[in-house]
Formats: sequence, structure tokens, C-alpha cells
Amino acid sequence: RIMKPCNEAVPGYLPGSDEKRGLKVRLAELKQSPMEIPLIIGGKEVRSGKTGKCIIPHNHAHVLATYHMAGEAETRMAVQAALDAGKAWAETPWDHRLAVFLRAAEMIRGPWRHTLNAATMLGQSKTVYEADADAACELMDFFRYNSYFFRQIIEEQPECLQGILNRMEYRPLEGFVFAVTPFNFTAIGGNLPGTPAMAGNTVVWKPASTAVYSNYHVMKLLQAAGLPDGVINFIPGPGSAVGPLVMSHSMLAGIHFTGSTAVFQGMWRTVAQNLAHYNGYPRIVGETGGKNFVFAHPSADIETLVPALIGGAFSYQGQKCSATSRVYIPKSIWPAVKTRLTAGIDGIKTGDVEDFTHYMGAVIDRNAFDNISGYIRFAREADDAEIIAGGECDDSIGFFITPTVIVTTDPKFKTMQEEIFGPVMTVFVYPDDDIEKALTLCATTSKYALTGALFARDRAAVVEMERRLCYSAGNLYINDKTTGAFVGLQPFGGARASGTNDKAGSRHNVMRWLSPRTIKENF
Ligand code: GLU
Repeated sequence: RIMKPCNEAVPGYLPGSDEKRGLKVRLAELKQSPMEIPLIIGGKEVRSGKTGKCIIPHNHAHVLATYHMAGEAETRMAVQAALDAGKAWAETPWDHRLAVFLRAAEMIRGPWRHTLNAATMLGQSKTVYEADADAACELMDFFRYNSYFFRQIIEEQPECLQGILNRMEYRPLEGFVFAVTPFNFTAIGGNLPGTPAMAGNTVVWKPASTAVYSNYHVMKLLQAAGLPDGVINFIPGPGSAVGPLVMSHSMLAGIHFTGSTAVFQGMWRTVAQNLAHYNGYPRIVGETGGKNFVFAHPSADIETLVPALIGGAFSYQGQKCSATSRVYIPKSIWPAVKTRLTAGIDGIKTGDVEDFTHYMGAVIDRNAFDNISGYIRFAREADDAEIIAGGECDDSIGFFITPTVIVTTDPKFKTMQEEIFGPVMTVFVYPDDDIEKALTLCATTSKYALTGALFARDRAAVVEMERRLCYSAGNLYINDKTTGAFVGLQPFGGARASGTNDKAGSRHNVMRWLSPRTIKENF
């Protein structure tokens, strides 16, 4: 029987600790030995000859690896490999399937922890704490919780009357699942192919080009944990080449996606175009963008609010879908908030995450750097906005952007509405006597509904704000930051333009990868 798991904790990484020493050794090893990363199709290494490079975002001259990209031939091979492995995997007893993922979680407690963390620090520019919370803890949590949820689901059985046996058989979907994963969480790289695979599906996995390095190590971990050949097929490559080909296959049974709203909408269109020749209706599960709010009431506790703003907006350089990016503060508390916020930001060190002292690393790549710095430039030149902290962009060594706060007098200012995906927070200061209007603005300014946070000590205000913002966030925090949902404790996902709200790390999500058969037998 699979017990309800406990969430894994990040070790201290204190000076002189074993975990810090071990990780430093692994960082040095990975940096010194550039890798060649093949595709993995049907368990075999495949080299397409068409390659891309994995670089270190905070030191972009350093090449970590060359990776092979899937073209048309490799994409077709991967779909075929998934289909070929499907029958045996679906017929593998469920406990043997889960054992692979439970074993992988245990293996992360050993030397794999250093490998996954070092790969995430180098390839995605995460600090040690962000890397461990992601590539070690959250990945373990996903594997363990989803195994537990799977077990709960299959125990759900209908009543039996005398002479009749009713059963539910939780079968995988018929066909293969396409997992498309983002750069910002290594754990999501493991979860999106992993959960459908636990449920008995076989998968074609296309990781983001900027996370190929850590995601390849996740693939190797799963293979080392006993994942049979062809169950997950790892094919980095250009989305425009891989995506349409995979999604036009008649046996596409599902899509498990985290990434941009634009790409997700394109996937829906591709599926719609192919609807007539699919074997069934592909399950489409996606988590996309956000424009996550913090709404402070005049009764908010400033000592709680300010660290939550800093943590929510700037941890991992604001590159979490859940990052705080638009903030509503009442005029009465703004001077005190502003003083503490700018002082807090002054203390943030941005730089080389490998030295363990920085709070922020670099943003992921040149595109991100150009996009984010473009928004900062726009704010700097606008009449109705002012940059009160940060705003420095330097790409000479790495893609560095300092934590930035924009204050605007226009509640519909561009940076109050558009997702920036970087360390930029925009503040709108509202008059205390017009909280009604401010709440309406908060509820209506964005097309997204991923995360949001309310700050108040007044209970009646909490009740009212929670009611008023009921469609504005899939994950709502009260007196806490908008980021850092724990698997199993705060199932994660949003609605509106933010996704299908199929809550990563939940029983509901596991259910999306199952197609139950109801069986009635008379005696
Ligand atoms: N689950 C993460 C959090 O709560 C965000 C996931 C994402 O960025 O997609 O911060």
C-alpha cells in the first residue's frame, strides 16, 4: 500500500556541509566535460546530426553541451517507438509501473541529487535553493504524490449488489501522449511525461531547447530507474517542426503542456484541424502564462507583505508562471512599503549562481533578455510610469537584469497587463477610499488567472476580496507570496488564458491520463 507522501525538504547547503561540498564537485565536473546529448528513441541513442547548443545563461560563452535536434525522420521514429511500446507498458501491472517512478524518487536522494541540481544551476541559472526545491524536491514529490493518487484512483470502485459484480478498470488512453515541457522547472520536465507514463501511457517528450541539459539528465535517471525502452521518447527539437507532425498523427491521445499561451493556442488549432482523422478526442492539458497579482488591503501587515513581494516577483528572476507581476497597494501604506521594498531590493545580489551567495542569476537566454529589457525601456520612456528600483540590463557576460519595480499611475499600463516573464513588478497605488474600484481593476485587467495573493489582517476584508476575485486565480494565497506551491498541498494551475486548470500534482491530473472501463458482470 502506498502511503501518503511527505513533501521533501531542501537541505541547508551551509558552508562546510557535505551537501555543499558534493554539489560543488559535481558542478566542476559538469562544467569541465562538455557533453554530446543524443535523442533517446525506443531506449536507443539517436543522432540526427542537426545540433544546437546548451549554454550557461550567467556565462553565455560557456557551452555545456551540444544536443541533437529531431527532424521529421526522428519525430516519426519517436511516435512509432511510443506506439510500439504501448501494449506491453499498458499490460505491465500498475505497481510495477509506479515502482519505476518511486525508485527514481529514491535515487534522487543519492548522487543523482547533485547531478540534477548542478545541471539545473548551470543550464537554467537557478540558485542552489531554487534548483534543489525544483529538480530534487519537487520532482520527488511529483513522482511520489502521483503514484499515491494513482493508487487512490484505482481503489475507487462501484458498489456490488448480490449477483452482480461492478468494476472500474482504469486503463491508459489508447495511443500516445505528447509532452511539451518548459525551461523554468526541471521538475515539470519530469512530471509532464512522467504522469501519463505512470498511468500506463507511452510518451513523446519534447523539452524546451533551453532546458535540454537538465531534462536529459532526468531522462537518464528514469532509464536508470528501470523505465522500459520506448515508454518515454526524448526528442528535443524545434517546436515548429516536431509539433505539427506529432499532433497530426491519428493516434495522438493527449497533450501535456506547460509553456506560452501562444504556443498552446496553436496546439488547439492544430488539434481542431486534425479532429476528423483522430482515433479519439485527444485530452489537452495545459498550463500557460500568468499576470499574477498581489492585492494589499489597508489593513495589510507590511512586514509580511514586503518579503512576499520580493520573493514572489524576483525568485528565479521572475521566470515562474506564478511570479508576482502586478501589485495594488493602498496609498496609506505605500510610503512604508516603498521604503522597505527598495531597501530589500538593494540587498539582493544578482550574479553567478555557482558561488552560492547570489539571490538571483541570469534570465534564460537572449530572447528573454531582449524582451524583458524592452519592457523596462518602455517604462523608462513612458510619462505615466517611473522605475523606482533596478532596471539595469547587462548581457556582456551573462543575461543579467536587476530586480525592477515600476510604479504607474495608469492601472492599465502595458506592464500591468502583459506577461513579461522576468524580474519586473509593476505597482499601482490606489486611493484607500476607492478599494471597490481597485478590486474591479484587479479582477478585470488581465486575461490570465493563474496565481494571486491578498494581504489583509481584517477578516471581513479577506472574505470580500476572496469573493470578488473568484475567477482571477487558480491558486489564491492569503498573506503569502504567489509562488512556491507544494505538490499535493496546493495543487497548481489556472484558468482563463492561463490554462485548462487540470492542477499539476493532483488526483484530477492523474485521472486525465486514464480512460476507465466500467465492467458489469452477472452471476
Ligand atoms: N508551481 C510553481 C509555483 O508555484 C510554478 C510552476 C510554473 O512556473 O509553471 O511557483
